[in-house]
Amino acid sequence: MLLARWWHDFVQLVFPNLCGACRSALLLEEEMVCTYCRLHFPLTNFHRFPTENQMFDKFKGSLPIVYASAFLHFSEGGIAQLLAHEIKYNRRCELGIYLGKWYGSQLAAVDISKQFDCLVPVPLHKDRQKRRGYNQAACFAQGISQTTGIALREDLVIRAKATVSQVYMEQEQRIANMANAFQLLPQAEVANLRILLVDDVVTTGATIEACAKPLVQKGCRAIGVLALANV
Ligand SMILES: [Zn+2]
Repeated sequence: MLLARWWHDFVQLVFPNLCGACRSALLLEEEMVCTYCRLHFPLTNFHRFPTENQMFDKFKGSLPIVYASAFLHFSEGGIAQLLAHEIKYNRRCELGIYLGKWYGSQLAAVDISKQFDCLVPVPLHKDRQKRRGYNQAACFAQGISQTTGIALREDLVIRAKATVSQVYMEQEQRIANMANAFQLLPQAEVANLRILLVDDVVTTGATIEACAKPLVQKGCRAIGVLALANV
């Protein structure tokens, strides 16, 4: 044990293993996220009330939505923003998978796999995915799939249009930016599927809405939404 600790300390000096949120060096017993951040996760617990929460309300009326939940509440400079940034911009897909597994174990406890047939991560445009090397929403969805047993499907919908960043856009601009951004792949069979769309951060919901559009048009039975964080 002493040797293991000495070795851990040595490796940490050369290649520090950092908390995915606050970026402090992790202790030997810690994995991905430090104990302090873990204890301060802004959990939403929306999965306990998946049709009565502020994220569900974003889609009510515009989507045939039956379920909406996010792992964390997003706040400026808060833990959820730090984690989402780390996954997306610091090549930490494995952090996304880890958080997905964690959230998936909470979702499995409320039997989510009985309500849905597949998880569909919101796709990136192929050029962006090539540059980044991975899709952060797919990393999170992969973890959720592992602990809930719900199939991960990345062969149904693609992002056909390279949309511009929406950070400074108003709701109407976001909807225009997203119009027809997503398309079904020609061989995709979605009729009667109960689909959970997965994204990293949900702000106005315009991206999810646009991604759901071709799935709904082709007759999917139900749409649910899961996110790492809800703004
Ligand atoms: Zn931390």
